[in-house]
Amino acid sequence: MMSRFHAKPEAQGQGMTSQRARDRLVERLRSEGGIRDERVLQALRSLPRHLFIDEALGSRAYEDTALPIGNAQTISQPWVVARMTEALIEHGLPKKVLEVGTGSGYQAAVLATLGIEVYTVERIDELLRVARRRFRNMGLNLRTKHDDGRMGWPEHAPYDAIIVTAAGAALDPALLAQLGEGGTLVAPVGGPSAQILLRLRKTVEGVVQDDLGKVVFVPLVSGIL
Ligand code: SAH
Repeated sequence: MMSRFHAKPEAQGQGMTSQRARDRLVERLRSEGGIRDERVLQALRSLPRHLFIDEALGSRAYEDTALPIGNAQTISQPWVVARMTEALIEHGLPKKVLEVGTGSGYQAAVLATLGIEVYTVERIDELLRVARRRFRNMGLNLRTKHDDGRMGWPEHAPYDAIIVTAAGAALDPALLAQLGEGGTLVAPVGGPSAQILLRLRKTVEGVVQDDLGKVVFVPLVSGIL
């Protein structure tokens, strides 16, 4: 047992602790959060969320809560990430997904862990640089872009799915236009005090909309920083 105290914390002690903490979080998401998709639960179990936040907040990484990541932004609450991912893949695993709002990179990494080809856009350069470094360190291969993502990333359209992780007053039609036939879009829509999570599916009969409930997201902002 002595060796345990001599080992580098991230190499042994904390590594084991965080796996246990992750397992506990995942069990809570299943039992209390109603998350049923095993693919999603497994992705959250395997991905170290503590590596997507500042070390000083590391001990809170496996609480089911949003946490600050700097620049007045937050890493989304694990339940929200799980629910959005579940809604996005429910009707079949998409091959190619666009994310608007990279932030910490956690949601994008969850999608990449599922074997999805991820294109992610972030308007704050400082956040994107850190997220890119995380992807590299974890051996995750994602396509990133520093831009205002409200109108998507048209060069790589159509996407099988689109996920927006910041709340706008309305969905830009340009975004929906980049969704392929049969594709799914999940986005929070509304003002700062009241937002709902919407899922839109492009079917042969037209666009089908589901209301997935109330959520709280940081606002979708125009321009780059
Ligand atoms: N998916 C992120 C959530 C971060 S919060 C995660 O898992 O951590 C939402 C992010 O959306 C913030 O980083 C914010 O800067 C970004 N954002 C807001 N408006 C945007 C826009 N118009 N284009 C691209 N990113 C935007």
